[in-house]
Amino acid sequence: MSAIIIYIIIGIAGGIIGGMGMGGGTLLIPLLTLFTSAEQHLAQSVNLIAFIPMSVVALGIHIKNKLVDFKYFWWISVPAVITSAIGAFFVKDVQSKVLKICFGAFLIALGVLQLIFIVVDIVKKYKKIKKNNQNDFSKGTNYVKIYKTIFLGEKYMQNTFKHGIHPDGKKYLSENAEIESFPDPQFVYIPVQQHSGPPSEPVVTIGEKVKAGQLIAKAQGRGCNVFASIAGVVKGIEKRPTATGKCDHIIIENDFSGDRQFFTKLVDPSREEIIERVTEAGIVGMGGAGFPVGAKLKTDNKIKTFIINGAECEPYITCDYRLMVEHPEEIIKGSLYLAKAVNAENVVIAVEDNKPKGIDSLNGVLSSGKYPNVEVRALKTKYPQGDAKKLIYSVTGYKISATRRSNEFGVLVNNIHTAFSVYTAIEGLPSYSRVMTVTGEAINNPKNLIVPNGTLFSDLIDFCGGNNGAVEIISGGPMTGFGVLSDKIATTKTTGCLLLLPRKEAWLDKPGPCINCGRCARACPSLLMPMYIDLYYKNGNLDLAEKYGALHCIECGSCAFVCPAKRPLVASIKQAKAKLKERSKKK
Ligand code: SF4
Ligand code: SF4
Repeated sequence: MSAIIIYIIIGIAGGIIGGMGMGGGTLLIPLLTLFTSAEQHLAQSVNLIAFIPMSVVALGIHIKNKLVDFKYFWWISVPAVITSAIGAFFVKDVQSKVLKICFGAFLIALGVLQLIFIVVDIVKKYKKIKKNNQNDFSKGTNYVKIYKTIFLGEKYMQNTFKHGIHPDGKKYLSENAEIESFPDPQFVYIPVQQHSGPPSEPVVTIGEKVKAGQLIAKAQGRGCNVFASIAGVVKGIEKRPTATGKCDHIIIENDFSGDRQFFTKLVDPSREEIIERVTEAGIVGMGGAGFPVGAKLKTDNKIKTFIINGAECEPYITCDYRLMVEHPEEIIKGSLYLAKAVNAENVVIAVEDNKPKGIDSLNGVLSSGKYPNVEVRALKTKYPQGDAKKLIYSVTGYKISATRRSNEFGVLVNNIHTAFSVYTAIEGLPSYSRVMTVTGEAINNPKNLIVPNGTLFSDLIDFCGGNNGAVEIISGGPMTGFGVLSDKIATTKTTGCLLLLPRKEAWLDKPGPCINCGRCARACPSLLMPMYIDLYYKNGNLDLAEKYGALHCIECGSCAFVCPAKRPLVASIKQAKAKLKERSKKK
């Protein structure tokens, strides 16, 4: 009797694991039963010894490849379990050859069904990967990659990257706040440096009357034009602090005349006209990098795909999400202008899958069929998915090192707001305002606002119901933003968020010694060992800091976020990078 119970347990285990593993032991059990003289209990033992481990491996591969679905459980495992259990129970009593053959045939049918399911799944997945590979830049279809993806579960086609973290998004504070216009303030303080590259040169004088949209500082070198964000009188040009340093600010007092000076609207612009307009209108990468978009578009490399970065992976920030929900068509049109400017064949709008409304909104526009070369790709929600090189890896599988540029691989990336601003520039608007999120547990009414450049943080805080016990004010998000010492800092083209954190959310703890736990290395999306870079930099050994990959750090802050000792790893790695760059210039 006890043997029968053991057979039943083995049968159930084999059924579950074999069934979920799809293609596991049950196909071979009846073959053994039918075509050898083995008794079924022997076959069950073989199942235990050989097929269960085999099925476990199969199950592991299928789970990794996301081939396992509950429907397979019901279709395969339940009958397999019942049959195995009944078979084991009656093993001694069933003498009839016909019954044995029927039982064997049933199990064979079950096994064949498993194989059919897995083949169908592989074919489906293969087709999907081939389709995705059209956005890939490999010459022809990369069958090795496809093989690896299907059979070994390689992650590159799964819209994610290695390592990274899952911080609490806190998007709920502002994600449902519709975009509203911030009323023009009495004064704006417009920095002449709102971009990477040299500061712009003021072209207005104190006392001069200006209109909203009028050029007030001209681009120098690879810089960017700066425009008045309100109509009024220039009251001064003075050095003031920004979130990252100091630069000249053009101060304008509002005359509330509402006078505006825009460009003429371009209709069906050529490639050259788009680049010229984007440059003239002072559009920069609005995700935070501030790289002049006109310069980016003047690439000599052949671009195949333009990726629009809608990941918005940084906690709290929701301005790009609101743009996707409220202005999907403008974003798509702006993306197509960007693609046209570099002759890109297609556009992939990449959005983290925690923004289903944003994805639906964009897909709703695409469902009209008017924009066949645009695709919305849902990416795994993980920080820092929005980093340009991680995003490229998630979308295309290309690993681009710190020393290479994405355009060498036939791909360019700009963020959602940039695409939106390119659209508005073609319509005639220079870049003088932007949508930003004012949020955090220490602001009374979190909002998404259209804000004129140069608006003081204090004005925004007042408009959003006031400061409710903030101990930290951050320009940007909590991971990559800059803590500011005063709320008298002005917004720029790249200020996507103003974050007010109360004591319990602020990172004010004193750092302790490293306990060698390795968490920072496990979190690092660039696969570095941040603890060693920190250690060697602090010990003055720049060579070893470089050897451990300091220059490959993307400054995402994941390492510092997970560090139990609260070590300021990013700050130290940033300093190491700056020193290394300085050193290489001197060489
Ligand atoms: S070392 Fe750099 S890239 Fe790695 S987690 Fe830290 S900040 Fe991010
Ligand atoms: S996470 Fe912090 S404590 Fe742990 S190894 Fe890295 S630096 Fe050291």
